[in-house]
Amino acid sequence: MLANLPKSVTIVDMTPRDGFQMESGYVIPTEQKIEIVNMLSRTGVPEIQVTAFVRPEAVPQLKDAAEVMKGIERIPGVKYRALVPNLKGAERAIDAGADELNMLLSVTDSHSLSNANRTTEDALDTLAPVVKLAREKDVPVTGGTACSLGCPFEGFPPVERLVWVIERFHGWGVRKISVADTVGMANPVLVYDRLSRLRERFPDVEFSLHLHDTRRMAMPNIIAGLQAGVTEFDGTVGGLGGCPYAPGATGNISTEDMVHMFHEMGIETGVDLDGLLDVARRLREIVNHDLDSNILRAGKSSDLIQEKVTGQRRLA
Ligand code: ZN
Repeated sequence: MLANLPKSVTIVDMTPRDGFQMESGYVIPTEQKIEIVNMLSRTGVPEIQVTAFVRPEAVPQLKDAAEVMKGIERIPGVKYRALVPNLKGAERAIDAGADELNMLLSVTDSHSLSNANRTTEDALDTLAPVVKLAREKDVPVTGGTACSLGCPFEGFPPVERLVWVIERFHGWGVRKISVADTVGMANPVLVYDRLSRLRERFPDVEFSLHLHDTRRMAMPNIIAGLQAGVTEFDGTVGGLGGCPYAPGATGNISTEDMVHMFHEMGIETGVDLDGLLDVARRLREIVNHDLDSNILRAGKSSDLIQEKVTGQRRLA
């Protein structure tokens, strides 16, 4: 156990997309979305999923996708990504200057039908022209597989189902694939099994993990992912992205908790954790509800040790 840990990992922050899209009942002003992306950029997070170019009726919170993408400050070295569900979205994202297009589909038909009103196969057909356009415009494109580590309707999809979807992406030349536990059902044994088998089956594909922390299994699942050789992980500040009807409920894994754990383990992220905590504090003001951030609540482990040394806090 815990052999062959990587020296460094890549953190992808999804706050402005996966986080904001679940905020309902009010619209976050465009300039505050831009402010959060700009703050994130300055923490050293190398990749940010800035927004999604979806139909405004489908996700009203993200209807200003183009304005946000065009309004942000571009820090050299940071990749500003956009989620695109179809060709129209891809065209809009490229026009707005997205550095990378992220496709996403559900690997189970029942979730795909309930979420996007089409089967997985139909979703793949919808995405084929996106890859073609991205190639023409020379914009990198990635594939995402929602519910691949657990589906609320079908349970745990067999690895053959994941292979079938990823083979399609692979056939189009896509070499970056995100494996998502969309509703937080996965456990470490499952994550290790699926990711090690997928990495063996597709040795030229870079796999990343997108884990929701709904049942508090995201952290152990990250460890399982590391053991399977995965070195890229998505998160949102404050774990934003939970159920909109239960403010503070766990959504994505919190980026700052994840970064903190990696640093404590001696794994580099290149991210300034204090800067990330500043983003969390500002975010809490913007969304006006509590965030699921252990480090915001408890502070860093290393702070505690320093305080003990300098005698600023009496420890029981
Ligand atoms: Zn998600």
